[in-house]
Amino acid sequence: MTRFVMALDQGTTSSRAILFERDGSIAAVDNYEFPQHFPTPGWVEHDPLEIWESQLRAARGVLAKARVEVSDVAAIGITNQRETAVVWDRASGEPIHRAIVWQSRQTAAICDELRSRGLEDEVRKRTGLLIDAYFSATKVRFILDAVDGAQQRAERGELAFGTIDSWLLYKFTGGRVHATEVSNASRTLIYNIHECDWDDLLLGELRIPRAMLPEVRDSSGIFGVAESEWLGAEIPIAGIAGDQHAALYGQGCTKPGLAKNTYGTGCFLLMNTGEEAHVSSCGLLSTIAWSIGGRVEYALEGSIFIAGAAIQWLRDGIGLIEHARDSEASARSVADTGGVFLVPAFVGLGAPYWDERARGAIVGITRGTTRNHIVRAALESIAYQTRDVVECVRADSGLELDVLRVDGGAAQNDFLMQFQADILGARVERSPVLEVTALGAALLAGIGVGFWSDRAELESMGDGAQLFEPMLGAERREVLYASWKRAVERSRNWERD
Ligand code: ADP
Repeated sequence: MTRFVMALDQGTTSSRAILFERDGSIAAVDNYEFPQHFPTPGWVEHDPLEIWESQLRAARGVLAKARVEVSDVAAIGITNQRETAVVWDRASGEPIHRAIVWQSRQTAAICDELRSRGLEDEVRKRTGLLIDAYFSATKVRFILDAVDGAQQRAERGELAFGTIDSWLLYKFTGGRVHATEVSNASRTLIYNIHECDWDDLLLGELRIPRAMLPEVRDSSGIFGVAESEWLGAEIPIAGIAGDQHAALYGQGCTKPGLAKNTYGTGCFLLMNTGEEAHVSSCGLLSTIAWSIGGRVEYALEGSIFIAGAAIQWLRDGIGLIEHARDSEASARSVADTGGVFLVPAFVGLGAPYWDERARGAIVGITRGTTRNHIVRAALESIAYQTRDVVECVRADSGLELDVLRVDGGAAQNDFLMQFQADILGARVERSPVLEVTALGAALLAGIGVGFWSDRAELESMGDGAQLFEPMLGAERREVLYASWKRAVERSRNWERD
């Protein structure tokens, strides 16, 4: 009997591998960072081969660390940074361009062009998304334009496109499988989330040939087999989901109305809406949560681009703190921000504003303002941005959302979690499982090969969550929130061409 499931968590800054035991506990973790490429300000690219090599290294590393026989691993699950686009040559398996990363703004002009053709409504109706450089399709268009002859080669079926899951699946299976799964497909801007098929109208508008697209499959089930040359024996790859979708699953948000927020580089709040795709009236995205056994479930999503990255900026950009965790003591050393608000619109604003021209702002500075006030304002900005999204979720769903399940690196900050509860006027419940995203991918893979029977088998894993209860009075809460909204207005529509 096999004992483990391996999750591969291919993130924006590092590739991780985690081995889970049958009771859901973690046997070992291995992790490698890989280079970020910034060819021009606002552009972010990854080398797909550096992604593959770091991910393979982590997979090998975790087996070595845990001293596990490969034959003890029942399956591999993949979860990944979403939207990031790779185009490669089918014959050689070589990428024809660097991967264009989700954060990259390099396709803003292509988005302007799509908007000018009046496609906003069609995009929303068909894909649940809106026109923004964030999603994959304009990145594919960019690559096909940037590389000589690529359009013709794509039309002849010589090139393949894939999100990172698809790229890793292709590499692990020795080029045998060119497929993806629905949650990843639902982030591309060319996938019809109601018909569950690539959308011909949008493919036509973007001149993306169907011949280059992967086959789209359920999130749980065998996609292919990792060849023995990689890990020493064959292992089925049996579950895939985009990182935020895997976290939703890992958090056990498998019923309509349950929501989680992950505090990483950005913040991503997803609420399960069951078999119904809600159309948001205020800037949330409709997205496929996952598909299991042919049953598609949907989620509403608020995507915040800068959250923990604001703390990285305090550390690396202006040197106010030495380590991310130091932000907590610094924030606690002052009673409040002294009226300072920091809007971290470093790459524009995502949900619910979707303002590509917004830029960061610090307002309310006086002669009494200190480093600690600014650090505290940066942490508080993460909570305020989350409140902006929660307001939309409440309006769109008609649900109160009185509990928010949380995870991610910055969720380890107790000050931030308490302030989050205070500013939402809702309970915040921090998962005791540190690797919720990886757990979600492991569960999908484990269920895909029958290692676990269903999600319910590990339902008790949420026990022991840490609760943060709101303590701030309603009046004070609303005064603070109104000031935040004013600060956001100051940051908007700042950048000029
Ligand atoms: P990702 O998966 O996006 O790389 P993680 O979940 O690993 O992100 O979280 C890392 C992020 O969390 C970083 O942006 C870091 O600045 C932030 N972070 C980590 N620890 C803390 C902390 N104690 N307080 C605030 N932010 C933190």
